[in-house]
Amino acid sequence: MIKKKVFILLFVFFLATFSFYFLEAKTENELNIYSGRKSFLIEPLIDEFKKNNKNIKVNIVTGKSDEFIERLKLEGKNTKADILLTTDVARLTRAKNNNLFKKISSKILKNNIPSKYRSKDDDWFGLSVRARPIIYSKDRIKINELKSYEDLAGEKWRGRVCMRSSNNVYNQSLIAFMIINLGEKKTKKWLDNLVKNFARKPYGGDRDQIKAIASGQCDITVANTYYLANMLTSKNLKDQEAAKKVSIFWPNQDDFGVHINLSGAGVIKNSKNTNNAILFLEFLSSKKAQQIYTKKINEYSIRTGVIPSETVKEFGKFNADNSNLGEIGKKIKSAIYLASKYNWK
Ligand code: FE
Repeated sequence: MIKKKVFILLFVFFLATFSFYFLEAKTENELNIYSGRKSFLIEPLIDEFKKNNKNIKVNIVTGKSDEFIERLKLEGKNTKADILLTTDVARLTRAKNNNLFKKISSKILKNNIPSKYRSKDDDWFGLSVRARPIIYSKDRIKINELKSYEDLAGEKWRGRVCMRSSNNVYNQSLIAFMIINLGEKKTKKWLDNLVKNFARKPYGGDRDQIKAIASGQCDITVANTYYLANMLTSKNLKDQEAAKKVSIFWPNQDDFGVHINLSGAGVIKNSKNTNNAILFLEFLSSKKAQQIYTKKINEYSIRTGVIPSETVKEFGKFNADNSNLGEIGKKIKSAIYLASKYNWK
């Protein structure tokens, strides 16, 4: 009888200890992601990560990067977030300037990501490249009429340019890129004339500019290539038809190259799962993950040797901006100021 009681006691003790250990392990081995990228873009990557990291529970919250930055500032030490993923370098710089990121020393990240695609202070890392070239009407523009971003401000384009709002960070980064390459004085002139060339008030996203060209509202725009690639491969036949009416022009091939931006991430300063966060970032920079970025999302890889998707391959090769992209983040404030000064709504 006594033996039986001892056995039960031991069993209960063992169960309690084990389940405590198990629960502890369960709550500790997490990875919490704040993602400015939509979840359908990130989920294939998380699924692949989980294959080799079954013990890590990955939680993802999606939303707007700027709101996450505000939230992280408020949450401070109490935050559960380990990683912030964003779709552009301006937000990475903003998070960095708000002291939200932790410095990470990882040989894998350094080897996989060229230095121009990561922070000089090792606190944010580019994970995919997005190009923002000129997109034009195949019917109404001949390729030899096209030159450069500067040329879009020329008088021959009066009433022919469609642009999305300058409230959008992609165009803020484009203006910052122009400030870096032309200087402020020339960029002011460029903005002043470019806005005069607008065919309509800025409206909609990148896809809407392409659709506006297809429907004849305007002839030319600047947009990210993955939008065009996604339209060309879309199940929506109207989108597909619109996309077929435009073509890509790679501007500034002999000087400062095509404006590019980065999606990227940083590890949160108050992260409680830093090792998991580093592991995930290292995975995102791997060849396997990079192939998901190019194939599923139609972006360009940060790595050489990872080929673009079939659709993107058709767009051809180009010379891209070769400077450290962190510089763009530093000019965003001036870009926003100039956009409003010259009435780019
Ligand atoms: Fe986008």
